[in-house]
Amino acid sequence: MFDPALETLDAPALARHQWRRVQALLAETWGGGPGAGNAFLQRKLRAAGVRGPGDVAGWSDFRRLPFTRKLELAADQAAHPPFGTNLTYPLERYVRVHQTSGTTDQPLRWLDTQESWEWWARCWGFVLRAAGIGPADRVFFPFSFGMFIGFWAGFEGARALGALTIPGGGQDSATRLTWMDKLGVTALVCTPSYALHLVEIARDRRIDLAKLPLRVTVHAGEPGAGIAAVRARIEQGWGARAFDHAGMTEIGAYGYECAEQAGLHVNETEFIAEVIDPATERPAREGELVLTNLGRVGSPLVRYRTGDRVRLADGPCPCGRTFVRLDGGVLGRLDDMLIVRGVNVFPSAIEGIVRRFPAVDEFQIEVFRAGALDEVRVLLEVDDTSVTVAVHEAFRADLGIRLEVSAVPPRTLPRYDLKARRVVRKP
Ligand SMILES: [Zn+2]
Repeated sequence: MFDPALETLDAPALARHQWRRVQALLAETWGGGPGAGNAFLQRKLRAAGVRGPGDVAGWSDFRRLPFTRKLELAADQAAHPPFGTNLTYPLERYVRVHQTSGTTDQPLRWLDTQESWEWWARCWGFVLRAAGIGPADRVFFPFSFGMFIGFWAGFEGARALGALTIPGGGQDSATRLTWMDKLGVTALVCTPSYALHLVEIARDRRIDLAKLPLRVTVHAGEPGAGIAAVRARIEQGWGARAFDHAGMTEIGAYGYECAEQAGLHVNETEFIAEVIDPATERPAREGELVLTNLGRVGSPLVRYRTGDRVRLADGPCPCGRTFVRLDGGVLGRLDDMLIVRGVNVFPSAIEGIVRRFPAVDEFQIEVFRAGALDEVRVLLEVDDTSVTVAVHEAFRADLGIRLEVSAVPPRTLPRYDLKARRVVRKP
């Protein structure tokens, strides 16, 4: 464990620990007078009747605080460009800027202070340590170090753990594989899609990945490593154990897998996790994940509706951590959900089926609008067209719907070195 004392706190001690941090967060963001403190958060809380931190006196008060939505943050940044008003300190206190990938809408920009950047590294420490990574490891980040925060923060986390951190920007995939071999890389951190792409490149170049000293892969940026068939394919391709991780630019690195791999632990010393029914906003076992981060005081989020669909796991984890677990990791993004003939389908469920077929190298989900409904065609990159029949049958059996499945020639669909965009909306 990264922090055994904190990761095994019993429920009352954990609640006390969180509460101290909630109070510190509210005191700091409220500031010391007019013009000080966090304008965005104060505006929200005042509109909800909170006159000051003293009005949030217990957990029941906390659970009445308003949710924060991504749309509000986007509107705030549009009205107050370029960084918006969710800033607790003057701009000179901030040292890093990143932005969301903006797959569905305008990207959000996010600033970090020295303290909150160190907090990111600490949160990644929990992730990497739980995957068994330590000072003796050589950790490779095959990532073009740009505006996406995830692997920058992972890089800092690996360095803070004392591992040898190896940046893999500015290289093509084949060169990256060569460097992994030359430098004796033992751990790889990338998106699940890119891990699979590297396996393909290795196969083309007749590079035997089993000969690398690689033990562990850690995956962020997409839910893929939480999908059993995707994880199995990554582990088989690399001859290493694959670990899932979840985080978001605007909230932080919140979820990680332990050696039991029995769901994604939420780091509850740094985040408060709630799950709600997205329609009624009442607490639920399965629904939308709502997070409050406790250590990013310069640009915090209180009760943030993540848009991630999750299901709480029952019972304690055999690893001894007391943190809550999300069964199957992030099940999908609520705004990615497709409604096909009345059946709700997450693209991750389609991927979970397609990846069971080793003959399929890559796939794409084409979505057509049919009246108010979605109609879906799944393109499979596969030589053997008989596989399309088997995949079609698996969709029918597992999802309960018939989806059109077509074969396309090998190497005709896009590959991804960061987040995949496999769902394509057609007019
Ligand atoms: Zn565990």
